[in-house]
Amino acid sequence: MIPYGRQSIDEADILAVVQALRSDWLTTGPLVHQFEKAMQDFIGAPTVVVSSGTAALHCAFAAIELKENDEVITPPLTFIATQATAAIFGARIVFADIQMSTGNIAPELVLKAITPRTKAIVAVDYAGHPADLDELRRIADTNGIYLIEDAAHSFGSKYRGQYVGSIADLTAFSFFPTKNITTGEGGAIASQNPQLLEKVRRFSRQGLIRDPELFQVPGQGAWHQEVHEFGLNYRLPDILCALGLAQLTKAESLKKKRSVIFETYTSLLQSCDAIKLPIQQEHVEVNWHLYPIRVAPKLRMRIYDELRRNGIGVQVNYLPAHLHPVFRKMGYRPGDFPISEEFYESEISLPIYPNLEIHQVEKVAEVLTGIIKNL
Ligand SMILES: *Cc1c(COP(=O)(O)O)cnc(C)c1O
Repeated sequence: MIPYGRQSIDEADILAVVQALRSDWLTTGPLVHQFEKAMQDFIGAPTVVVSSGTAALHCAFAAIELKENDEVITPPLTFIATQATAAIFGARIVFADIQMSTGNIAPELVLKAITPRTKAIVAVDYAGHPADLDELRRIADTNGIYLIEDAAHSFGSKYRGQYVGSIADLTAFSFFPTKNITTGEGGAIASQNPQLLEKVRRFSRQGLIRDPELFQVPGQGAWHQEVHEFGLNYRLPDILCALGLAQLTKAESLKKKRSVIFETYTSLLQSCDAIKLPIQQEHVEVNWHLYPIRVAPKLRMRIYDELRRNGIGVQVNYLPAHLHPVFRKMGYRPGDFPISEEFYESEISLPIYPNLEIHQVEKVAEVLTGIIKNL
């Protein structure tokens, strides 16, 4: 079975992890700082590394001090962690539908969803394609609200020549194995705002404060640390930072391989009228996490099943969030966000990962076009 996504681990990665295992630190040691520094050098924005993409989003919402009844605008077409991490603060999730072309949140619908209670807009870079960050930035700034980017798919993508991570107030990455670089489980938050990033750091490290200038408990010794706000343990251990550092050195070459696969699919499938292909806007450079095609909704199930029967591990991304029972019981219904629903009903994610070989890409395209011809 060719999976839809897969990590790429080489000998250098393995060696790096083994070295960390032989060192004095398993968890918070020198590699955490090194990985954070390397992330900053790569994307151009200061970074805190954490234990997952979900943790990264949770920290982002903690940093903006999200409260009960605050509103957060999100697209329906995403992994549920985008909403779960805000809803857990008691915030109200407000959906703004997507644009069919990219699968990303539509700025004109975001504008309509804003109320005096809106605290943040969350953009998801679907499949790796950056959202309309200029428009969203402008809407956020005019309304005095935060722009948070769920960049779980888009590590290494660029928007107007800038790496994703330096544009939104807070950008959350995931290092899950299928994502663009991996630490097994892991994530990061990037921000150009030192106050927000400090709040992220504290929330991810039990809320502990070690800076004597900030102490409120007087007369303590050198051992002292204290907590002003509750936090959790979302630390990324040295063992995994070792893997992250090794992965980061080849992030650009992994991106190039994804790009070659993208181009190959596109050239092999573009003449097939029954398939709509992903597009790339001119001002972005995409590190493709997914290769999402769209077919007629009434044929999607059969094409999906036939591909799987042929050993091609396709996936569907995603059931729109408002159709999960957790949102249905709040009153959301099918038809509420028709573009996300139509996108979902027609979508299939074809296999894409750096070590997928071109002959395998050709095989997937051949099997897929064969299935469509015989329908
Ligand atoms: C993977 C993913 C997450 C969560 O990341 P984890 O590292 O799996 O916790 C969040 N949002 C989106 C869009 C994702 O694809």
